[in-house]
Order: sequence, then structure tokens, then C-alpha cells
Amino acid sequence: MSGIIVVAEHRQGALRETSLECAGAAQELSLQGGLDYEVALLSKEGRALSQPLMGLTASLRYIDHGAHENYSPEPYLEDLYALVGQEAPRFIIMGHTSQGMDLAPALAARLSAPLVTDCVGLKIDGDSLICQRRVYGGKIVEELGLKPAPTVVLTLQPGAFDQPSASVDTQERDHASCLNQPEHLRRFVEYLAAAVEDVDIAAADILVSVGRGIGDQENLALAQELADAMGATLSCSRPVADAGWLPKSRQVGTSGKTVRPKLYIALGISGAFQHQAGMKGSETILAVNKDPKAPIFQVANYGIVDDLFKVVPVLTERLKSL
Ligand code: FAD
Repeated sequence: MSGIIVVAEHRQGALRETSLECAGAAQELSLQGGLDYEVALLSKEGRALSQPLMGLTASLRYIDHGAHENYSPEPYLEDLYALVGQEAPRFIIMGHTSQGMDLAPALAARLSAPLVTDCVGLKIDGDSLICQRRVYGGKIVEELGLKPAPTVVLTLQPGAFDQPSASVDTQERDHASCLNQPEHLRRFVEYLAAAVEDVDIAAADILVSVGRGIGDQENLALAQELADAMGATLSCSRPVADAGWLPKSRQVGTSGKTVRPKLYIALGISGAFQHQAGMKGSETILAVNKDPKAPIFQVANYGIVDDLFKVVPVLTERLKSL
């Protein structure tokens, strides 16, 4: 019996980041519970997509079929159900993406298995699994203790888990697809990407983020200069986006985007929990705020208690002189 099966996700001919994060969560669980974890990749040609997973899982299983070139619920469900039926894993993990939100409930219903969605933490406690989820807009993290069940289906919040760290030899195995229905009720027609009207702050390595403390739209130039000096992207808290000083796509937080850059610089941001929920996973956080009691300092690695209008020009000059 396989302990954990991660369902990898791909789009437009590339593996999606969430697949690696799910593998990271599976690795954590495998260490806690002494379980194996494997990754299942349903696609047209798995070996053309699987490179990022090499060395991150001991076992990679391919189910290649033309019907899996793009996600389509019925063929996926059929083949996945057949694989899971053979393996009877304890946990099935996938991303809480539009694909995962569609596939996981259908699979759980087919298996009569419990389903926990949008998890941000997982812990094995004896026979039980403890799942953490954010509720009330991120204000509270709830813990759900699951009664033991033969199989549990889980979806994980993108950005909540790290990639696996271990370096292992990956064994690749092919599985025959069991699809025999020529027609399904739903079929993939065309991929329509959402219009990108701005930069993707979730992809930036360094973010200079401005809050209401910036005072006025025209003061954004100060933050932009700092960002330019270090090759960073400008992001913001909600009041800045609400005021229309920066586009909504730059907003970090529960009603904006979740970011995990290498460096997050918070300028004049108080650090309300809705904001923190979107940035506290950043590798290093530097906060500049004139209020020493601002909650942002609770998650900051470095803090400067001062007026940002004094601090930012000095930082920019120092960076330019390097
Ligand atoms: P403020 O809380 O007003 O803080 C401004 C900070 O700037 C203060 O700490 C002040 O000390 C400091 N400051 C002022 N002048 C200076 C200066 N010259 N130098 C240095 N520091 C200075 N917020 C988000 O950010 N993202 C979200 O996605 C989000 N979603 C929300 C969803 C819901 C349902 C709700 C109810 C709220 C949400 N919010 C969100 C709003 C959130 O609760 C806060 O109101 C918001 O984050 C505050 O933004 P801020 O820190 O920029 O402003």
C-alpha cells in the first residue's frame, strides 16, 4: 500500500508550482507518519513535463493519454480512481487550484472518503490527521482532527507549503490508462488565460510594498526609486489599492495575492492580519514604520522604527552607491 499519492498539475505544457508544494507537504507527512509518498502525473506525455519533480520523490507514476493533455474532469477522475483503487493510499493530495477544487470533491465522493480543502498545515497525530485551515478571512487558523479513515483527500493552499528538500533517486513507472469511453460529457475546448493587465507580484523575488503610511499617490515615486535600485517590484496593502494609487493586482493579503518573495520590504504598513496572511511566508521581511507597536514588527526579521520619508531616500542612495 502506498501511503500518500500527490496528484501533480500541469497547464499549457508545464508543471505547476503547486505540484512541488504538494510533494513538499507529502514529504513532511511521510516523515511524521513513516509513509511513502508518490507523485501521479496524468498527461499526454508525462516524461516531457516531469523534470522539476526529479529527485523530489522516490516514485513517479505516469498515466499518459491524449485525453489528459489538458485537465478534463471525467477522464482524470476515471484514471485516478483506477490508480487509487489499486494503491489504497492513506492520503491523496492536490493543490487547491481550480483543477483541485473540481477534481478533489469528485474523487472523494467516488471513494466515499473524507475531504479537507484549502489546508495550510498538516500533522499526523497517532491514527488521526490534524488539518489547519484559515477561516474568517484569515483571522483564525482552525484545526480539524479527522477520525481515522482508509483514505483522506486533501487540497492544499498554494504558497502554504515548501518544496521537498530531500534528494532521492526517482523511479519512474508507466500505468496504462483505463479510459474506454470515447466521449465524455465535458471536454476541453480552449485555454483562455486571464488578461494580464499588470505584473505578477507573486512571481517577484523582491517586493517593495507600500501602505497607507505613504500618504499620497505622488509619494509612490519614492518607493519606486527604491524598488528600481534593487530590481524589485512594487506591491501594496489594500488601502493603497482601494484608493486607486496602484492597481488591485498589486495588493497583498487575503483579498489580494499571497506572496513569498526572498525579500519583502513593508513601508508604512501596519500589518493587519489580512495583510500578514498574504506575506508572512516571505523569506526575509524588513518593515519601516514609525509606530514601534505596529503588528508588522511581529513578523519582520528586521525593523526600522522611523519615518519612511527619512529612511527610504537613505536606503536608495546606499543601494545606488553599491
Ligand atoms: P494602516 O493600518 O492605516 O497603517 C498605516 C501604517 O503606516 C501605520 O502603522 C503607521 O504607523 C504607518 N505610518 C504612517 N506614516 C508613516 C511614515 N511617515 N513613516 C513610517 N510609517 C508610517 N488589507 C490588506 O493589506 N490586504 C488585504 O488583502 C486585505 N483584505 C481585507 C479583507 C477584509 C474582508 C477586510 C475587512 C480587510 C482587509 N484588509 C486587507 C484591510 C486590513 O484590515 C487593514 O485595514 C489594511 O491592511 C491596513 O493597511 P495599511 O497597513 O496600509 O494601513
